[in-house]
Amino acid sequence: MGEEWIRSTLRDVTLYYNPKITAFRMDNNANLLGPNPVAKKVFKEFAETDVNFYPTTYSDPLRTALAEFYRLDMDNFMVGNGSDEMLDVCFKALLQCGENVVTPYPTYALHSFFIKVNAGKMIQADLKEGFQLDPDAINRTDGKIVLLCTPNNPTANAFRMKDIREIIEGGDRPVIVDEAYGEFVKGSFIPLVNDYDNLIVTRTFSKAFGLAGMRVGYAASNKSLTQILLRAKTPLSLNLLSERVAIAALKDTKFVKRTVQMVEKNRGPLSKGLKSLGFEVFPSDANFILVRSPISSEKLVSELAKKGVLIRDFGKLRMLENCVRITIGTTKMNARLLARLGEVLEECQ
Ligand SMILES: *Cc1c(COP(=O)(O)O)cnc(C)c1O
Repeated sequence: MGEEWIRSTLRDVTLYYNPKITAFRMDNNANLLGPNPVAKKVFKEFAETDVNFYPTTYSDPLRTALAEFYRLDMDNFMVGNGSDEMLDVCFKALLQCGENVVTPYPTYALHSFFIKVNAGKMIQADLKEGFQLDPDAINRTDGKIVLLCTPNNPTANAFRMKDIREIIEGGDRPVIVDEAYGEFVKGSFIPLVNDYDNLIVTRTFSKAFGLAGMRVGYAASNKSLTQILLRAKTPLSLNLLSERVAIAALKDTKFVKRTVQMVEKNRGPLSKGLKSLGFEVFPSDANFILVRSPISSEKLVSELAKKGVLIRDFGKLRMLENCVRITIGTTKMNARLLARLGEVLEECQ
């Protein structure tokens, strides 16, 4: 067995970030307020469910709940195993082997992964000052599909809605807007899916909803586009338990509101604390912050991990030299993080 067995487009794909360190995780933007309490209630009821039967083919009960939540139609929604599956399905349905996908740079690492495993190529247009979109550059770049996330990961800022509109209206091609952190900002593109023939919006239960372990995400688009996407989706990919938990979470959003409040309350003090330690802090509209470390980011992250807290290093990327990404936690978690960071800086300077 050797490299020649592997599909040629997979040859330069490496395994994804999979830290083996046991430390407190402020590296992956999961909800640090805790698990969504609706989950445990559903788990109890679920004990009585006969699991020898399949769920519905396209998870219709969850699509119906989303339709109610957004006042759209269930045929505007596709749901599945995390919003990551939704991105994968979009490319399976829309991308031909060797075609380009246009994305901003820097952006979410898994975007390039899903483009590559679906035999596409990624073409990137650099973000401008303040990590804002360059809609003209994106519209000028040839490619079959445009993909972007707002708020952007790892930079944490939201893009201007008018810039995104310029991109949606700027070409006759699908535009995927990944709103994984959409609950933390005011506007959304979901209410506009019926106004455009080329708009797909993805969202997840993994971040503000506090259900990352359940792996549920969804995509919204106009009905005919949704019908096309569903053709490429593995039927039955979402398990019944996760579907039930997601439905319950849509019907009781108190925890999501508390999460957003916690993040809004703690973002300022954490930023201030980081600044006084010598970090350059970039503005955040999400549940995480991008900062530039005063010492090597690689060293910072590994020394901090030894003290029991994990954050994510992005310091090797162009434009993000020595930058790290930190998930915003509770007051206590942030205080502990700042204390440990202070120790690391003291020991390394
Ligand atoms: C976390 C994240 C996702 C992943 O969502 P899942 O629903 O957990 O698969 C998608 N996009 C971005 C930008 C993210 O940061």
